Amino acid sequence: MRSDVVVVGSANADLVVEVPRRPGGGETLLGGELRTLPGGKGANQAAAAARSGANVSFLGCVGRDGNGEFLRERLAAAGVRTDSLVIVERPSGTAVIFVTPDGENSIVVSPGANAEMTVERLRGASGVLGAAKVVVISLEIPLATAVEAARIGDASGARVLFNAAPSVRLDPDTLRLCDPLVVNEHEARDVLGAGEGSDFRALAEGLRDAGARSVVITLGEHGALVLDDEGCSETPAYRVRAVDTTGAGDAFVGALAAELAAGKGLRRAVGFATAVSAVAVQRMGAQPSYAERTEVEEFMR
Ligand code: ATP
Repeated sequence: MRSDVVVVGSANADLVVEVPRRPGGGETLLGGELRTLPGGKGANQAAAAARSGANVSFLGCVGRDGNGEFLRERLAAAGVRTDSLVIVERPSGTAVIFVTPDGENSIVVSPGANAEMTVERLRGASGVLGAAKVVVISLEIPLATAVEAARIGDASGARVLFNAAPSVRLDPDTLRLCDPLVVNEHEARDVLGAGEGSDFRALAEGLRDAGARSVVITLGEHGALVLDDEGCSETPAYRVRAVDTTGAGDAFVGALAAELAAGKGLRRAVGFATAVSAVAVQRMGAQPSYAERTEVEEFMR
C-alpha cells in the first residue's frame, strides 16, 4: 500500500529528568521522576504529518529493546505506518535531557540505531520511497542516506522536502533536489556557510542561487519566509503564549508535508504549518503537543 508522505529520519526516546541545577564534574545529584517521551526529528515529523491528515510511512531504525517498542507504538498511535521500521542490533536512539528550573535544557544524544539507517537499508525500501508524493528528510541519520533518499524521491517524481537539521553544509547537487529546503535561521546560515546577519530575504535568495528549488526559513515567533518562482513572502506566526517550543520545527515540517501531498500550494501549506506549530508551542512536549487537523482548523477560524 502506498503512502503519500514518506518520512526518512530518526526516532529517539527522550529521557527527561528535572534537576535543581546542572551537575558538576564528579557530582551526583538527585533529580525528579524520569519521564520517557517519544522524540527524534523523523518520528516527530511523521507524527505531525499523520495528525494533519496525511497517509504517512516512517523509514527509520530502532533497537530490539523496550524503547524501540515504545517508539513504534507511539508512531502507530499517531496514525503512522511502521511496517518499514527496521529493528537493528544496537540500542534505540536516546536523548538524555536535564531540565533546570530556569527551563533550560542540557541534552546528550546517543544516535544508536539511527546510525544504522544506511544507504543499503534505504535502497531496500526504495519501493515505499518511490511511491510517495512527498519525501521528508532530516539529518539525525547519516548524511549519505539523506542525500540518497532525496535522489530516489526526486527520480521517482516525488516532491523532496529537505529539512537541513541539525545544521550541515550542503552541496549544489543536493540543494537542487530540495523543493522546499526547510531551515531555521541558524541552519540557513550553516547550509550556505554564511556569517552572522539577519537579512533573511538575502539568505533565502543565497540558498536559491546555490541551487534550492524553493526555500522556507522558519523564524520562531516571527513566522516563516517563503521564496520560490512566485517571489518572496512572509507568513507571520500566530500570537500565542508559548509554554514549550520543543519540536515546533518538526510540527511545522510534518504539517507542511501533509499539505503539499494534498496538492496545496507552498504558501497555503506554510499557513497551515504555522497554525499547527502555534498550537504545539502552547503545550508541553513534542509529539504529544501535535493536534489533530480538526482542532487546528478550529484554531485557524
Ligand atoms: P525547534 O528546534 O524548537 O523545533 P526550530 O528552530 O526548528 O524549532 P522555529 O523557527 O523555532 O523552528 O519554529 C518553527 C515554527 O513554529 C515557526 O515558523 C512558527 O510558525 C512556529 N513557532 C515557533 N515558536 C513560536 C511562538 N513562540 N509562537 C507562535 N509560533 C511559533
